Amino acid sequence: MLSLTVSFARSLSGYDRVVQVNDQIVIPGRDCPLCPRLVAYREENRRKWSEWHNAPVPPWGSVDAPLMVLGLAPGVRGANRTGRPFTGDHAGKLLYATLLKFGMALGDYREDPHDGMELIGVRIVNGVRCVPPENKPTPSEISTCNRFLKTEFKGMAGLKVILALGLIAHTAVLKAYGIPVSRVKFAHGAINPLPGGVLLADSYHVSRYNTQTGRLTTEMFEAVVREIRSHLSGPLQSNSGNDFPAPSPRRPSRGS
Ligand code: SF4
Repeated sequence: MLSLTVSFARSLSGYDRVVQVNDQIVIPGRDCPLCPRLVAYREENRRKWSEWHNAPVPPWGSVDAPLMVLGLAPGVRGANRTGRPFTGDHAGKLLYATLLKFGMALGDYREDPHDGMELIGVRIVNGVRCVPPENKPTPSEISTCNRFLKTEFKGMAGLKVILALGLIAHTAVLKAYGIPVSRVKFAHGAINPLPGGVLLADSYHVSRYNTQTGRLTTEMFEAVVREIRSHLSGPLQSNSGNDFPAPSPRRPSRGS
């Protein structure tokens, strides 16, 4: 896998294309060119809001974490603005409140990447790293960005549980593992084994729509996280987490 990863990184080598986190994990740089529609939207947002992050949102949390929380994609005024997963998104309110409640984060969540909050034993990742128009990535974009997710699974040596937020995240995990989607159905609260002893836990997404319609209540989400916590034996290690080389400084986009 190492050679595959290196070869993949080389295929995208060049200014700001990828960041190699460890022997396995590769994250897209600020100017990942792979999804033309998302690149065009990124450029449009850079012209409109030059002070925002407006780039692929990198994972947050240690690569040694035993839990990965996998979301779908950044929101335009949330993680796409702040540059930290779920930060500023409505979905971050329930996610971070729950991680704090169960001792999987420390500090206060203030919808600000400089709020000083620390994750404990958790790495938060989006299946699609760039903000999609209307929060809707296409199947092709989900598939294209899956190459980065695959490297996460290879490079997180202590990974024990993946919490997939929603059907698309669940499907992205199966695809990254090379498991036919029909073999493991999505179901809120389900926990299924994956190769290598890793568990796949499902929850409805902590989205505004789901929480405001009651499809996902606080109690329902807490029950999932409580169950996951019971699978993570022993104390969790604190890590403040942006433990990867920081993406290169932004470049002005054409016309900005
Ligand atoms: S969604 Fe992923 S693959 Fe597509 S442009 Fe962004 S970082 Fe690259």
